[in-house]
Amino acid sequence: MTRTKVALVGIGKIALDQHVPALAASPDWELAATISRKGEVPGIPAHTDFAAFLAERPDVPVVSLCLPPVPRFAHAEAALLAGRHVMLEKPPGATLAEVHELQALARDRGLTLYATWHSRMAHAVAPAKAWLAERTVQGAHITWREDVRKWHPGQDWVFEPGGMGVFDPGINALSILTEILPRPVHLTGARLEFPENRQTPIAAQLTFSGNVTADFDWRQQGPQTWDIEVRTDRGELALRMGGNVLEIDGKPAAGEATIMGEYPALYARMAELVRAGESEVDLAPMVHVADALTLGRRVAVEPFDF
Ligand code: NAP
Repeated sequence: MTRTKVALVGIGKIALDQHVPALAASPDWELAATISRKGEVPGIPAHTDFAAFLAERPDVPVVSLCLPPVPRFAHAEAALLAGRHVMLEKPPGATLAEVHELQALARDRGLTLYATWHSRMAHAVAPAKAWLAERTVQGAHITWREDVRKWHPGQDWVFEPGGMGVFDPGINALSILTEILPRPVHLTGARLEFPENRQTPIAAQLTFSGNVTADFDWRQQGPQTWDIEVRTDRGELALRMGGNVLEIDGKPAAGEATIMGEYPALYARMAELVRAGESEVDLAPMVHVADALTLGRRVAVEPFDF
């Protein structure tokens, strides 16, 4: 089977950690170009200017954008206008409206737009969804605590407007929550902790309808915690390790903690979408983030520096 050429845009942490290895192992894709001002992948033709790439490489029909959210819209729009299918890292944009605009553009031009949520591809998310589908949810609690210095070393963009702060990882938890709950919930309140020298929160405590709460914190040292616990009329479910391990009533039920299959699954899904001529854009996780930033009570906390 011939592999379809894809270009990676924004060669930084996630491109090198996940996208490049996933593409190297993929039966569907050939990494045919990179576009990045500084970053490169050994052995792959490297471009530094996106407009020039679009003009010079008509042989590459798909682009995968691994940039931070703020510069993503301009790249996605240019790619769609140039007739390329587009895959977006999470979160799909800096605002909801810009993603709506991209959806319309992709639809009008008959192109695929895929807003990925890598955490939804974690091993235990589908079994958790199936288990909850047959039960009544009585409440849930998310604990998402990690070390920003480990996962975003020196990345000041996360603390700039549009960088989303602790919602950059927190939206992964919300992407799982919105996938597994049988009925939607809405945000009812938020307490947002902003370092006094920064523009985005470093911690957030959220409340939702349906007795759902969330605790996001980017100051966790030592072991990292990515847990979602759900109470139902017939037992308790816990998703641990970022959706990779499922426990039912305290006992292991599905999943595996070691093998990272999220990005290969995203690229397999992108291949399906392109073949089918379809798009997939679910903004539910980002709606909760926008609501938290709309309803949130701001609390100033000590300055943060990397
Ligand atoms: P990053 O390393 O800071 O950025 C990726 C690359 O984008 C940079 O190396 C840079 O490459 C380019 N870039 C940065 N700012 C730009 C700008 N203003 N204009 C044009 N290009 C710019 O970030 P990352 O950690 O890979 O995260 C990127 C996206 O992946 C985010 O949306 C994040 O939520 C998501 N993600 C990250 C992780 C993680 O663990 N870090 C995990 C999952 C998903 P050049 O300087 O070479 O152009």
